[in-house]
Amino acid sequence: QATQRLSLIGKPATTKEGVRVSLMANIELPEDIESTRVLKADAVGLYRTEFLYMNRQGMPDEEEHYRTYRKVIEGLDGIPITIRTLDLGADKQVDGCTAASCNPALGLRAIRLCLKEPKIFQPQIRAILRAAIHGPVRIMIPMLSNLQEVRKLKAIIAETKRQLAEEGLPYADHIPIGGMIEVPAAALSADAFSKELDFLSIGTNDLIQYTLAIDRVDDEVNYLYDPLHPAILRLIQTVIEAGKAADIPVSMCGEMAGDPRYIPLLVGMGLREFSMQPGSLLIAKECLFSLSAEKLSKQTRKLMKKLGSSKHERLLDKICRLH
Ligand code: PEP
Ligand code: MG
Repeated sequence: QATQRLSLIGKPATTKEGVRVSLMANIELPEDIESTRVLKADAVGLYRTEFLYMNRQGMPDEEEHYRTYRKVIEGLDGIPITIRTLDLGADKQVDGCTAASCNPALGLRAIRLCLKEPKIFQPQIRAILRAAIHGPVRIMIPMLSNLQEVRKLKAIIAETKRQLAEEGLPYADHIPIGGMIEVPAAALSADAFSKELDFLSIGTNDLIQYTLAIDRVDDEVNYLYDPLHPAILRLIQTVIEAGKAADIPVSMCGEMAGDPRYIPLLVGMGLREFSMQPGSLLIAKECLFSLSAEKLSKQTRKLMKKLGSSKHERLLDKICRLH
């Protein structure tokens, strides 16, 4: 079956009736670049940059960031890449880089840490802007919870461009800036975020953690991890609708996006961009070919009206069986 799937490489992902869906790759380690290119992902929807900080002493400087990003961009050979700014802290701890916090998932992590510590953030932003002359790049901000964070980041980018210009260093001028929606507050105000950002990406790993109040690294509570919880489905729907209303792309890059158990429902909700581990790309494509977006959309609309009611389970089963 796996060998049969190889024949799907290079075929555009669509549903049964030909609705185009974008299948993108998540890159966590440099090894993933090769599989992303070989499997012909439509784009890289999430490039995690924390690996540069792992298993080492000291911090990477601007040149190391730059060399790494340039190599990835060139290695992708024209495949567009979404570079996520540093998501350090919480489940991605690095020695000497983050402050001790008694509740790290709610503490100074990701964009919060970056805005507080320019010495960590500046080299990365400079490196991304410089590397982006080598191919199509977007920037994505993790862990947004309020609009000030977007505005501050934009100001930092503008100031960094000014500095680079002054120094005579080449940089890309027009880079789309998007945000991860992975905090319930951000999902509930996705309409406001979508007015100030070029795209949104739903990070279900954290969105589920924060919405259901279950620590993603605590095995004692992982039985509560439920992507189909009505609260999660409502939040996802809210984000998709906000993106549509503002006419900006919405993708999903959490684990949920690459899971064939959830893809039919997400297609029914109107999601058209999925980002996943490269190993899931062909399975997802195969799944999509068997789905009817139109049928799923009708079924999903019905389900969303009946969330939590006695009909909920039956409607959900139907959607999952529709492929
Ligand atoms: C997420 O939270 O869903 C996500 C994609 O980011 P990470 O798993 O890196 O926190
Ligand atoms: Mg996350």
